[in-house]
Amino acid sequence: MTGPTADLLIRDIPELLTMNPLVGGGPLGRLEGAAVAFTGGAVSWLGPSAHAPSARQVVDGRGCVGLPGLVDCHTHALFAGSRAEEFQRRLSGASYTEILESGGGILSTVRATRAASDDSLAQTLDARLGGFLRKGVTTVEVKTGYALSTVHELRCLLLLRSRQWPVRVVSTFLGAHAVPPEWRGDRAGYVREIIERMLPAVAPLADAVDVYCDRGAFTLEETRAILTAGLARGLTGRVHAEQVAHTGAAALAGELGCASADHLERVDEAGIAAMARGGVVGVLLPGAMLYLRDAPPPVAALREAGVSMAVATDFNPGTSPVRDLLACATLACVTMGLSVEEALLGVTRHAGAALARPALGWLGEGSAADLVLFRPPPGEPARASALVQYMGGHAARLVVRDGAVVWATR
Ligand SMILES: [Zn+2]
Repeated sequence: MTGPTADLLIRDIPELLTMNPLVGGGPLGRLEGAAVAFTGGAVSWLGPSAHAPSARQVVDGRGCVGLPGLVDCHTHALFAGSRAEEFQRRLSGASYTEILESGGGILSTVRATRAASDDSLAQTLDARLGGFLRKGVTTVEVKTGYALSTVHELRCLLLLRSRQWPVRVVSTFLGAHAVPPEWRGDRAGYVREIIERMLPAVAPLADAVDVYCDRGAFTLEETRAILTAGLARGLTGRVHAEQVAHTGAAALAGELGCASADHLERVDEAGIAAMARGGVVGVLLPGAMLYLRDAPPPVAALREAGVSMAVATDFNPGTSPVRDLLACATLACVTMGLSVEEALLGVTRHAGAALARPALGWLGEGSAADLVLFRPPPGEPARASALVQYMGGHAARLVVRDGAVVWATR
């Protein structure tokens, strides 16, 4: 049985987790000895290698684990400057809130990002995103939020939209990341600036709006006003919720129909129930939890309530200088109590849902045409569980994005 000739065929993959229970076994849609064909930038066939169609380009997947292209649904990858000194300060005992309140943290990155040229910002981001791709990540969400003025936020979103990046970039407007120094005496004025000037300018260029709702950042009512205005402009809603202090932001995310509430270390029962009712994905960020030596979010309660959980790097220069998504999957298991299956869904299909991009993070009819092959650690069988068991450093052997090979090693 042969189908039509395909553009690209990846065959003889010992274990392929499609994250699509309709085509493979278990919740992760597992197939053995699998093949995937791509035609015209789409998945055109998927099944046992013995029945695979012919193709113009054929890749031998023997010895490798196959996964959908990984999705990092929460990063702050667009920034300039270095926070290495702050890292040392925190090791000597200063808390993140203390650093924030003394004008360090986010605000030092804001100064450096505003001062950087477009070309230098783009070069650095390109190098960072290339690193993500080589670790099997084909989609990266990138937040603004180190510019914090209408002109500079717009510049950052234009930059994200106007260049070709190594990965698919989903852009999120995070003007409400911190109150910038020039607005320090007039918080309400800055919130009005976001709603009345920034959002109308940036909405056509952004996929989502996010607010950092926390002690030392934005209040629940400010968050409500900004998210409501962003949703009214057609943006997907996201919220940094319940990280440093309990604020009620998770419940707000449920009430407003946001796609995700992220962090959740201090979410309460009411917040979890509202997330479950609203179909809000809980994005877990074990890198930040680790760097801040924080307690884990209540994963058992989230699971019990039926909240989908995603896992992301939260890559940023302050609280999570972490660029390895599979390492975060491992950390989510070891430090938060996710199962290996939950962690793998968390960096694929559930991460796509957190971005309101339901075609991302799985393989089958109608999915994105993104696939990654990993070699297992030496001495291990070709099983995705070994990629989660061994923490980090897994380099992709081959990456397919939009149906074409974009990265390969021998
Ligand atoms: Zn974040």
